[in-house]
Amino acid sequence: MDLGLAERTVLVTGGSSGVGLATVRALLDEGARVATCGRDADRLAGAAAELGAGDRLLTGVCDVRDAAAVRDFTHRAATEFGGIDGLVNNAGQSRMKGFADATAEDWRDELELKFTGVLNPLQAALPWLRASAAACVVNVNAVLAKQPEPRLITTSAARAGILNLSKSLSADLAPDGIRVNSVCLGLVDTGQWTRRHAAAGSGLGYQEWQAELAADRGIALGRLGRADEVAYAIVALLSPRASYITGTSIDVCGGVGRGIL
Ligand code: NDP
Repeated sequence: MDLGLAERTVLVTGGSSGVGLATVRALLDEGARVATCGRDADRLAGAAAELGAGDRLLTGVCDVRDAAAVRDFTHRAATEFGGIDGLVNNAGQSRMKGFADATAEDWRDELELKFTGVLNPLQAALPWLRASAAACVVNVNAVLAKQPEPRLITTSAARAGILNLSKSLSADLAPDGIRVNSVCLGLVDTGQWTRRHAAAGSGLGYQEWQAELAADRGIALGRLGRADEVAYAIVALLSPRASYITGTSIDVCGGVGRGIL
């Protein structure tokens, strides 16, 4: 099926690794032009070399918390590619802190990352999204937004706020023809989990450790997800074929979510 993404431009934050990188790859496969950013120039260069996309890929070093840097990068992407049709707010990470050990700084940093990670790119891309005939924003969120984890208390609370914000934005931006949706992830095998495996020092190999993790968290499909399994959901939402889908969220979580909505 032609998803109608060829020659469209999508900005993906945090495309040098994991879900972002898989999304960039899937979009390039659909013939889209992609602009992506991250904080580490070497990781970005490595991703660009791996993707080998030539002039359909633009990368830039930029921290999503820095509004001016995000504005500059977005302007560069829109100028180079002649507009922006889609925005994937993906950059970020979670914070393993419970109520007892979360400091005021943890709360501030987590809320800042999650909210500026959506608001800065959206505000920067808005003029071009308004001008697009098929504009769509996808916020990469977590099942934690609906099913909080005490050991991730700051991230859970911030994620819930972002899910709420996405709903408001979908109503606010609908008159401009901009759809806004979310994907809510469970546990997806990316750099976040290889780093946690290394930090855990359990003595278990990565696959064994993952299997224990899946059992402990009650993942119905019995395994962590792959980044490309998330990317397909994001690309489906970005497609103009999803033109009547806005204000919703799709769980991509292997059945770890316990809720019905
Ligand atoms: P990775 O760590 O594999 O990739 C994160 C990407 O975001 C990298 O490209 C990183 O590059 C970039 N990034 C991180 N912080 C910033 C920042 N402040 N500004 C710009 N770029 C940034 O993570 P995942 O692919 O696992 O995660 C992607 C998203 O999905 C995140 O928002 C994460 O919280 C969310 N998520 C992931 C889950 C999982 O199990 N993997 C579960 C639930 C949600 P660099 O470090 O160079 O900046």
